[in-house]
Amino acid sequence: MKINISNLSEGVHEYEFEENPSSIELDERFSRPVVAKVGIEKRRRQLFLTGHIKTFGKFVCDRCLDNFEKEIEVDYRMTYVYDMEDAGEIDRGEITVIHTSTNEINIAEDVREYILLSVPLKLLCKDDCAGLCSTCGANLNQGACGCPKEDIDPRWEKLKKIINKN
Ligand SMILES: [Zn+2]
Ligand SMILES: [Zn+2]
Repeated sequence: MKINISNLSEGVHEYEFEENPSSIELDERFSRPVVAKVGIEKRRRQLFLTGHIKTFGKFVCDRCLDNFEKEIEVDYRMTYVYDMEDAGEIDRGEITVIHTSTNEINIAEDVREYILLSVPLKLLCKDDCAGLCSTCGANLNQGACGCPKEDIDPRWEKLKKIINKN
């Protein structure tokens, strides 16, 4: 995911990358190609990058423990400058300082990081996932399991949760 910037003219340039997840060091949850559409606007001593990244990840649902695939889509901005003085008034996303002799920028690491950052902390196969029956372990997304509805003394509820964890 390298962009040659050595003779880049002023103005907007567009790039598209398609990369194997493993080649940008993404873990095995990611098995489909990572597509990154990148625009770079060169203005004298500044390069403004906007990236649009798309891929898919295979995850385990936190609630029902089923595997599911989820599209990961993320936009990011990066501004490349030759020294922090150039960055003075910029407040567009993050800033990377590059050397005047830098011929190419490699966006692979940023792409990987933005993908990992956009994996939700709570992973659910669907928003209303019904989870597992706490009695028989059946996946309640596939219908009711027939266990009697529990009626527990709320004072025991906490203890039961602890037991279920083990
Ligand atoms: Zn689920
Ligand atoms: Zn059940």
